[in-house]
Amino acid sequence: MLFVKLKDDTHLRFYLIDGHTHIGKEEVIEFGKKTYRTNLPNQILDFFTRLQFNLLRDMKKNPDYFHFLPDDPFVRPAGFIGGISEEISKDRFTGYLVDQFVTFPFNDVKATETVPQFQIPNDMILKRQQSPPFFSRMLGFVRVNPLDGESACKEILRCAELGARGLKLHPISQRWVDNVLDPRVCAVVITALNARMPVIFDCRFLKTAEDIYQLHEKIKKDVKNPNYGIILAHSGMEFNSDSLYQILNDPHLYGDTSGMRSDDVGLFFKKFSEAAPQTWSNNVIFGTDFNYFTIPQATDLLEYLFSEDLFNKIHLNPAEIQRVLAGNLMKILPPLDIFSSNSLDNVFQPPIQMRIIDVHLYSVTEPLAVEITRMVGKIYGNKSKKQEFDYISFDPFVSANGGFVDHTSFIAHIITQSASNTRFLLCLALPFDGGFGQKPDSIPPADHSENSLQNPSNPSNATNRLTEKTSELLEIPLSLPERFTYLVGLFDCNMPLSGLNLRVRDSENPIFKYLNETIPRDSIQIITQSDILPTILQNLLNT
Ligand SMILES: [Zn+2]
Repeated sequence: MLFVKLKDDTHLRFYLIDGHTHIGKEEVIEFGKKTYRTNLPNQILDFFTRLQFNLLRDMKKNPDYFHFLPDDPFVRPAGFIGGISEEISKDRFTGYLVDQFVTFPFNDVKATETVPQFQIPNDMILKRQQSPPFFSRMLGFVRVNPLDGESACKEILRCAELGARGLKLHPISQRWVDNVLDPRVCAVVITALNARMPVIFDCRFLKTAEDIYQLHEKIKKDVKNPNYGIILAHSGMEFNSDSLYQILNDPHLYGDTSGMRSDDVGLFFKKFSEAAPQTWSNNVIFGTDFNYFTIPQATDLLEYLFSEDLFNKIHLNPAEIQRVLAGNLMKILPPLDIFSSNSLDNVFQPPIQMRIIDVHLYSVTEPLAVEITRMVGKIYGNKSKKQEFDYISFDPFVSANGGFVDHTSFIAHIITQSASNTRFLLCLALPFDGGFGQKPDSIPPADHSENSLQNPSNPSNATNRLTEKTSELLEIPLSLPERFTYLVGLFDCNMPLSGLNLRVRDSENPIFKYLNETIPRDSIQIITQSDILPTILQNLLNT
């Protein structure tokens, strides 16, 4: 997590997810000679560490360029991730500037060894996602070749059952860039979206972006999962085109930032925010494409996002930055689910499907909540070392439209491969206090009707909107209340966790509603000192 402050000393933090990295091994031609590109999860984390040093160095060296200044400390892990890493890997793998990262196979050397293709690299990704020390940070996407037809769809479902978080498609590498609307491509996209996996396409041309838009128009009636997303990697790369921004403004389409450099970064934000001033930030996802692209592109992107220039040009607010850095991706990436990912059943029936094993309520401040999550992480790290379970996921909560990531609230899914029903840990800042979390972000959900694309040539309109935006900013819940009711609980669950919008922090969340009606408030324990935490947490988590 990144900690910055404004020049008036307002402290802000941002949760970061890199939505685009690769691991594995791929054949490439360099200077006419055959060689290999390889990458591993620990190299991705080293890359985040270098990125952190670059950003800090430049923010210190050139404070006038930035709208934000580095806070002290500049980077810290989210509590649970920090606790787990401390215990499992003695903090050897850091890179905590970026909390979690999506990773998928290269066009791997082993991809064509199986029918359907990519089974070997897919298994490698799923295995890495499920092993220490990366399990709480890595979001494993798999890859198929749609031209494999029916068997590619079966491969997607096989991977979904094993916990795949999304699907990567590469029209150029798999040679169907001229046939994006092929029925086989449509079939794999529908299969993935209905298994609640977002789909990311390599998309480096406007023509491909247009084809993906058409594909989405064609298939959307067949998508049963309401919170789905299709990501255009590299955002089409033809940043001068006006029609690109109309495509990206579709509520289910997203552009990732990977590969943008220098002036293109400013051009992209300027043109998109002019085309869709109220909604652009709902449709952009931070991604680096490491290790195709490395430090220069990622640095340019992050530095411009925090720059005075961008702030002055589009009156960027922190909620918009948070959406780009993680919130948008979190909305379309449901909590980790295995064994039940093919079910689209989304009727929530506690206590039949969700049974409370043990729940405790504490009254805490944010630093104490962070300390609780760190200790919970340590206890689970220790249990993982003793092989009491196979792996554990980490899915933080996000506000209804992505502008606030609550790093103290998360679902951690404890997976034992042999058991079919599934236990999860919920750490949650409850909305019992003064409606906290009930209010969605102030910026309205995207109105994507024809008229919502604003005419950028009308400056008086733009000024009005800026004023509106400034007053709305005050309403945005960007931080937790000073003291709040915090729940740490264990649950048994025999329903698809991913079927409900369980990680969204608002009154629509059925878990909030259920807990609100079920949990007696008279047992809230007020905590003022962290030294009593280890004992109470050990007792709770050892049940
Ligand atoms: Zn890539």
